[in-house]
Amino acid sequence: MENFSDVIIVGGGPSGSFCAFNLAKRKIEVTIFEEHSEVGVPCHCAGHLSINGLKNLGLYPLPKEVVENTFSGVKIYSPKGLEFSIRFNSPLTCVVNRALFDKYVASLAEKSGAYFSLKSRVERLIKDEGAAKGVEVKVNGKTAKAYGKVIVDAEGTSYRVLRQTGLFPPDRFVNCINAEVENVRDIELDTVEIFLGNAYAPGFYAWLIPLERDKAKVGLGARMGNPKSLLQKLMHKHPAASRKLRKAKILHKSFHPIPLSGPVKAYSDGFLAIGDAAAQVKPTTGGGLVFGLNCAKIAADVVAEAIKQDDYSAKFLSVYQRRFMKLLNFDLKIMKGARKTLDNVSDEKLDDILEFCNRIHANLDFSDLREIDFQGRTLLSAWRKPRLLTALTYFLVSSLAENLKHYQVKQVNNLNG
Ligand SMILES: Cc1cc2nc3c(=O)[nH]c(=O)nc-3n(C[C@H](O)[C@H](O)[C@H](O)COP(=O)(O)OP(=O)(O)OC[C@H]3O[C@@H](n4cnc5c(N)ncnc54)[C@H](O)[C@@H]3O)c2cc1C
Repeated sequence: MENFSDVIIVGGGPSGSFCAFNLAKRKIEVTIFEEHSEVGVPCHCAGHLSINGLKNLGLYPLPKEVVENTFSGVKIYSPKGLEFSIRFNSPLTCVVNRALFDKYVASLAEKSGAYFSLKSRVERLIKDEGAAKGVEVKVNGKTAKAYGKVIVDAEGTSYRVLRQTGLFPPDRFVNCINAEVENVRDIELDTVEIFLGNAYAPGFYAWLIPLERDKAKVGLGARMGNPKSLLQKLMHKHPAASRKLRKAKILHKSFHPIPLSGPVKAYSDGFLAIGDAAAQVKPTTGGGLVFGLNCAKIAADVVAEAIKQDDYSAKFLSVYQRRFMKLLNFDLKIMKGARKTLDNVSDEKLDDILEFCNRIHANLDFSDLREIDFQGRTLLSAWRKPRLLTALTYFLVSSLAENLKHYQVKQVNNLNG
């Protein structure tokens, strides 16, 4: 069996479906191959999203059943359990049921004319003189070939297809666990909670996202260690989290990596990669949905132009990378810097920084915050906010001083042999 569409998309996650939607709207023929029998299942994600980010993409308001809760506050806990609490003037973020969110985005694509082939696992990229021309797909156990003018890779973090183009996957990940729990205590329904501490979420952080009065999504990312045992430790030992989660029951859980070192080069002849497949992810929080959806839209624009010009060369498609880097580059640089600085801060210093933020009431400068996806721009606005600026300066100076101390100790140890 052989098929032809203008565009073939590998993966029916949100990035793949949103790209398909933006292509199908222009009457471009799109086929999406999704390996599972249902879009959005299994789900590996917490689904916490900025409302502004969704609005800018034309995806908010979402259907009522997709949104599980909205949030007007965040509490950040230091490793020893110190609380730093911020209230926003209006709801800033929401949590979505990821399976329903994925299905909703897929339904937009389908209604616009995109064709979804489920239970269809792309096994191999078909190339002709180095250019991507199609894919070999296993559909219901049978192998079929499908050809397209452009192949869009939205396969998430498996990088199976990306590798076959000769492009390189990201090289730094955090391993994550996300669980739905009940019997949670002492939470505020409109407040997301973040827990810091290298003993619980080494090199990243843990989250608690309330769904109902006693129900929440809880999870963490870790550069090292076993996420499952770290979650148990968080729930039973973290001074703040254990108060809320000691008696909680895990209803279900999932494990998945988040790529942190992207974005990677995401184009070659006849080929583009979008979303997690291109590691278009915020290095600070690991959130990938808003970045991935924005890049999926840019990819659709570029593919539509390529079809118009009948030019599918890497040279033509490289404009995709330039456009998405123009959108993300500034913020990515700042976020990568922030992540690197955070990675080198000890638990004691984190306690100290949060204590300082409380002392100067830095939370007051966050209350009118609207932009949380493009965090470089948010930090840039700090110069107009004296408390935020003071907190940032304190953070930078104290982490620099700590790094210097570590460096000096290392030098002395080296000298002593
Ligand atoms: C624990 C955890 C929590 C997270 N929480 C958040 C959060 O709160 N907010 C946020 O913004 N981001 C979050 N993320 C990141 C977010 O989940 C990803 O950025 C997002 O899912 C990327 O979407 P995507 O469409 O690019 O890839 P995916 O959602 O991974 O979709 C890829 C799709 O491709 C399919 N596929 C893969 N290979 C093939 C193949 N060979 N053939 C056919 N189909 C294939 C898969 O079945 C899947 O449906 C979290 C990630 C993790 C691990």
